[in-house]
Amino acid sequence: MKLPSRACALVVGGGPAGCAVALGLARAGASSVVVERSAGRRFQIGETLRPSVGQVLTRLGLEDAFSTQRHLTSHAIASSWGSEALEVDNRLFDPAGPGWHLDRARFDAWLRREAAQAGALVIDDAKLRACARRAGGWDVVLTCADQERSMRVDVLVDATGASASVARRQGARRLVYDRMVGWSRVFDDDAPVQEGFLLVEATEDGWWYSVPLPTGGLLVVFVTGPDDRGAATTAGWTARLAGTIHTRDRVPGVGAAPPRPWAISSARLDRCVGPDWLAVGDAASVYDPLAAIGVEKALRTGADAAEAIVAGPAARADYLAGVERDFESYLSLRCAYYCAESRWPSAPFWRRRRQIDPTRATVRLSPHAMLGLSPGDPVALPPEVETILSPREWTRLRDVIASGAVAAHACAAALRPHADARHGDRRIVVALERMLDHGTLRCPSP
Ligand SMILES: Cc1cc2nc3c(=O)[nH]c(=O)nc-3n(C[C@H](O)[C@H](O)[C@H](O)COP(=O)(O)OP(=O)(O)OC[C@H]3O[C@@H](n4cnc5c(N)ncnc54)[C@H](O)[C@@H]3O)c2cc1C
Repeated sequence: MKLPSRACALVVGGGPAGCAVALGLARAGASSVVVERSAGRRFQIGETLRPSVGQVLTRLGLEDAFSTQRHLTSHAIASSWGSEALEVDNRLFDPAGPGWHLDRARFDAWLRREAAQAGALVIDDAKLRACARRAGGWDVVLTCADQERSMRVDVLVDATGASASVARRQGARRLVYDRMVGWSRVFDDDAPVQEGFLLVEATEDGWWYSVPLPTGGLLVVFVTGPDDRGAATTAGWTARLAGTIHTRDRVPGVGAAPPRPWAISSARLDRCVGPDWLAVGDAASVYDPLAAIGVEKALRTGADAAEAIVAGPAARADYLAGVERDFESYLSLRCAYYCAESRWPSAPFWRRRRQIDPTRATVRLSPHAMLGLSPGDPVALPPEVETILSPREWTRLRDVIASGAVAAHACAAALRPHADARHGDRRIVVALERMLDHGTLRCPSP
């Protein structure tokens, strides 16, 4: 394989986001090299596509080719959320068409082939080894099949998924709003599946989703807090399954390997655009799988980023604003979903997630209110604040007010360099106010 000496973009990561960037660039006549470190050898989770995915597939010129790929169509989502009753959202008459259940490894490999056919150079088993910024671009060193190759590129694209390893190397930080774990098992099922439906069910310790795979078998995932270690064992997972009402009836009960963990977060980079680099897909922002929109978002941000690269540096500010805006809408929607489940008001999983929506909460706190730590130097954040203030920000806040009372505006200013640049102040002020309400902070008398 011969590497060109120069390309418009180096895309690190050959998942949906990276392939969409390469496809978008190729369709605009711009060159790109995509490096993918594993190339489909691993089972990849993230299999349900909503009908709305058709729009971005069309935008990337993939709609016809996708329809020949024989993934499973999905005409319904059944959910037990907020009550024991099973509600079925039937998509039979959805004008956008059906949703899909993917064989993800095959889908990703197909996207890489489409990107290559469109003109991108797609290299499997390759990694970015080093990069150095030069005027108007980058000198990069790639490791391809144990050999080092060098080239020059105008733009670096981080499509490495939630690790965001390229962007973090450039100094970007991940703002994590929530962490959970999905414990998955695939159950064999000999019956051929023609079409499937997604079943979502809330329980006291978390929620379940199950979906038939085009490769055969049923994928069953228990999403819970990172502290629920019991779900890691087959016995613990099975005991939790027994607590479901609908999911357990669907599981054949044979032929599954032990539970496998998947890190789940709601997170985004503090900036997903920098000098001659952009982050796309999960590298830019990660959504809860409850939204079942991660693949669609990866394709869309990939297509948006390709347009921004072609249009030049000024367009990248619009790309950045779009990612941030979408993430704020997602946080509000997610909050509404978790608040819609009220059956277990004191269960830690639900208390932790029935969070405040900092973009909508009313702020009453005066910027001049003096704040101090409550007696006993409280270490734990109130649960509803854990999702809006990161542990690092809480440590910083405690350092700031450890030696005496500090005005609310000064607390916000001290956290600002550690926070999300655009929504930082509002989020921080809401967190301060809730900590006052909860008694973690107090207003010392003058
Ligand atoms: C439990 C769970 C369930 C989910 N369910 C759904 C769902 O039903 N529907 C949905 O739409 N989404 C779902 N998602 C989310 C979805 O999987 C992701 O949003 C989507 O895969 C993001 O695509 P991406 O291209 O940004 O990243 P990825 O798919 O993670 O692709 C990143 C690629 O980069 C490669 N890579 C990483 N680092 C390097 C490196 N240094 N060098 C070279 N290559 C590298 C990786 O091998 C990988 O192929 C789910 C996620 C989880 C955790």
